[in-house]
Amino acid sequence: MKYCVECGTKLVFKELNHEGLIPYCNACNEYRFPIFSSAVSVIVLNKTKDKILLIKQYSKPYYVLVAGYINKGENAIETVRREVFEEVGLNVNEIYFNDSQYFSPTNTCMFNFACISDSEDFVLNHEVDEACWFSIEDSKKMIKENSLAQRFLYKYLKVD
Ligand SMILES: [Zn+2]
Repeated sequence: MKYCVECGTKLVFKELNHEGLIPYCNACNEYRFPIFSSAVSVIVLNKTKDKILLIKQYSKPYYVLVAGYINKGENAIETVRREVFEEVGLNVNEIYFNDSQYFSPTNTCMFNFACISDSEDFVLNHEVDEACWFSIEDSKKMIKENSLAQRFLYKYLKVD
C-alpha cells in the first residue's frame, strides 16, 4: 500500500508505539494499516475420518478444498459452517484450526480448518462442478499440485 485509501496522498512510514514503522498519511493524519481479505479453506472429513471431500469449481480440471471469504462481522468458524453448507450442503462439527498463510495473488490471508461432516451425502450448489470423497491416500494424489490447498492438506496429514 503506497497511497492513502481515503485521499490518495503518498504514504510515509512513521513510528507507532510498540508497532514499529507503519504507513502514515500526512494529509489525514492517520496510520494506514495494510488492507487484505480473509478467507477460510476447509478439510472436510467423514465421520470415520478415513475420507476427505475434494471439489472441482469454475470448470477447472483439478480438485481443491472447499473455501470462501469471511464476511464482515463473521467469525472464521461461522464461515467454515456457512461455506461448507452453501457449497456442498453438509453440516460440519469438531472444527479445528490447522494452518494459515497469506496468499499474495488475491491479497488474502487464508485460514485452514479441518472438520467432521455428519453425512457423506453432499448436495452441490451452482458454484461447484463436482465433489468426491477420497481415501486419505487418494486425496494426497488428487489435490491440486503445488497449491495452497495441497500445502494445508499435507500439513494436516503430516506429509513432508
Ligand atoms: Zn489520506
